[in-house]
Amino acid sequence: MYSSDPDVLDVDSVAPGLRAALAKHGSLAAAVGSMRASAPAGSAVAGLAGGMGTLTRALEEDLAARGVKVDTGVTVEAVERDGDGWVVSAAGRTLSADALVMATDGPAAVNLLAAAVPELAAARPGPGPGVALVTLVVDQPDLDAHPRGTGVLVAEDVEAVDAKALTHATAKWQWLADSTGPGTHVLRLSYGRALSAAAAAGQAPASPVDRGDADLFAQALADASVLLQVPLGVDDVVGWDVVRWVGALPSAAVGHRDRVAAVRTAVDAVSGLEVVGAWLAGTGLAAVTADTRTRIAGLTEQLEES
Ligand SMILES: Cc1cc2nc3c(=O)[nH]c(=O)nc-3n(C[C@H](O)[C@H](O)[C@H](O)COP(=O)(O)OP(=O)(O)OC[C@H]3O[C@@H](n4cnc5c(N)ncnc54)[C@H](O)[C@@H]3O)c2cc1C
Repeated sequence: MYSSDPDVLDVDSVAPGLRAALAKHGSLAAAVGSMRASAPAGSAVAGLAGGMGTLTRALEEDLAARGVKVDTGVTVEAVERDGDGWVVSAAGRTLSADALVMATDGPAAVNLLAAAVPELAAARPGPGPGVALVTLVVDQPDLDAHPRGTGVLVAEDVEAVDAKALTHATAKWQWLADSTGPGTHVLRLSYGRALSAAAAAGQAPASPVDRGDADLFAQALADASVLLQVPLGVDDVVGWDVVRWVGALPSAAVGHRDRVAAVRTAVDAVSGLEVVGAWLAGTGLAAVTADTRTRIAGLTEQLEES
C-alpha cells in the first residue's frame, strides 16, 4: 500500500496500534499476529464490477442530479480570504463562497492556502513519488492456474525484477476474468517506490515516470515472466497501456502524524475552511471518504451556527 521501506515509515501512521500491541505481547511477531487475526490479509479489499472508473461516473451522475456543477480540467490558481468567505481564482474567473473545502494533494493545498493560513508552510509535505503502471493483456493459458495467486509485492533488493508489484487482475477480480474468458489474462505491473532505502541514502534511481512507453512495456513483459515463472513474449500480448501518476502517493514518513496534527490545528483555527485528502487522512478511498465525511459534518455545523 505504501510501497516503502518499513525503516522509513511512520509506524503510528501506517499501522496504528502496532506499538501498543508490541508492548502488550512482548514480541513483534506476536503483535503482528494478533492484529492480522482480527483483520486477515485481503479482508479489506473490495472492488466494483466494471472497475473503479464506474464510481467516478456514478458520482458525476449523482452530482448532476443534485444540481451540482463540476468544472473538470481547471487548475485553481489562487485562493484568498474575503471577509468571512473565500474567493477562488481559476482560468480567468473568480468564484465566491462561504466555505472552502480544499481537496488537492498536500503540496498544492499548502501553496494555495499560503496567504490565508501561513502556518501551513512549516508542515508542507514533500512531493510524492512518480508511479507508472503497465497493464498487459496476454493470451497465455498457463496463467489460468494463477501461479502467484492474485499477485506479488517485490522487495527493493530483488535484482532480477524492476517492478515493485504485480497484480494478476484476472485472478483477483471475477468480473474481469468473466470479461476476458479463459486463456486471456490481465496483468498490472507497477513501478516507482515511495520511500525507498536507496532514495533515503541519496541513490535514488531514475523516476519510472520519465521512462518511455516502449521501454516500460519491454520491462513489464520481462518482469512478469520472472515473477509468474511463465515465459511471456511480445506475440502473447493482445494489448497494453501505460498510465503515469505524479505525486499521487502521499508521504507516510517518520514524523507524518505530527505534521497532520499541525495542519489540523492550523486549519481548525480558520472559519469556513476544511482540508481533506490522503495526505491527511491516510492512503486509500476508505480512509479519505471516512475522514472527509467527519470533516464536512464539522464544517456544516459551523456554518449553521454562524
Ligand atoms: C496507482 C495507484 C493505485 C491505487 N489503488 C488504490 C486502490 O485500489 N484502492 C484505494 O482505496 N486506493 C488506491 N490508491 C490510493 C487512492 O487513489 C488515493 O488514496 C486517493 O485517490 C487520494 O484521494 P485524494 O482526494 O486525497 O487525492 P486525489 O485523488 O489525488 O485528488 C486530488 C485532486 O486534486 C487535483 N488538484 C491538485 N491541484 C489542483 C489545483 N490547483 N486546482 C484544481 N485541482 C487540483 C488533482 O488533479 C487531483 O484530481 C491508489 C493510488 C495510486 C497512485
